[in-house]
Amino acid sequence: MIVVAAAALLFLGQTALADEGHEPIGDAIRSVPIFDAHIHYKQEAWQTYSTSSVIKLMDRSGVAMALVSSTPDEGTIRLFEYAPNRIVPELRPYHGAARSSNWTEIAGMADYLRKRLETYPHRGIGEFHLHNLDTVNRPLLRQVTAMAKTHDIPLHVHSGAAPVHLLYELEPSLTIIWAHAGLSEPVAVVEATLAAHPSLHADTSYRENDILASDGMIDPAWRKVIERFADRLMVGSDTWMNFQWDNYAELISTNRRWLSRFPRDIAEKIAFRNAEKLFGRKVDMDLIGKR
Ligand SMILES: [Zn+2]
Repeated sequence: MIVVAAAALLFLGQTALADEGHEPIGDAIRSVPIFDAHIHYKQEAWQTYSTSSVIKLMDRSGVAMALVSSTPDEGTIRLFEYAPNRIVPELRPYHGAARSSNWTEIAGMADYLRKRLETYPHRGIGEFHLHNLDTVNRPLLRQVTAMAKTHDIPLHVHSGAAPVHLLYELEPSLTIIWAHAGLSEPVAVVEATLAAHPSLHADTSYRENDILASDGMIDPAWRKVIERFADRLMVGSDTWMNFQWDNYAELISTNRRWLSRFPRDIAEKIAFRNAEKLFGRKVDMDLIGKR
């Protein structure tokens, strides 16, 4: 009888432990640091949001570190030079006449990118857009993928699935961060694309309302993707316009809301641990208030 009781206790104990591992992290997510994998500090923001006010916004939301790209790249460098311990800079091609729609066609683009990669400590190339593959300049893309390999840094690509496949065709050993997890691609395509390329990561900016169903729970198809690829996802805000800076606290709290529905190990990976691995930086709450 005693043996049975002990066995039952042991069984209960194991169940409790197992349950603990699978329980959502809930409110404890508030003390988990965030790595924001999709910040822009564009020229249009510089007047309203000084470098110090950007870092203060991050502080208030527990965003310990961020991946930053800007139009023009000077914005990223300003922010990085102000707060090098908080910013991972990446090189966005857009400047002058070079914009999201035409950057692959701009004369001198490869030289511009090469020179800036040599001058500044960029840890990625992007975020850049690839829309129409018919008009995209493949020789330039080949040079960009070669630069990524030389510097051992990822590309950060805003596109549908087809350009992701093309980039991996050009250079199979790339690491790509898929901006907005494909943005308008259906969740099934997101899953298939992540499954096809083991080094494909994604930031989930602008996906919060796909991930969170209207009842505040996690959309079941997204839950499957998030659990399956928990090692390759990162959250992000995408401050592409000033209204995103205006709403920064709300954006980060929406991200914490959906992360809170997952167990601690998954939530922490997506909040900051995947970024730690990708960029070789230590991310913790001790960074808050520092620069
Ligand atoms: Zn963006």
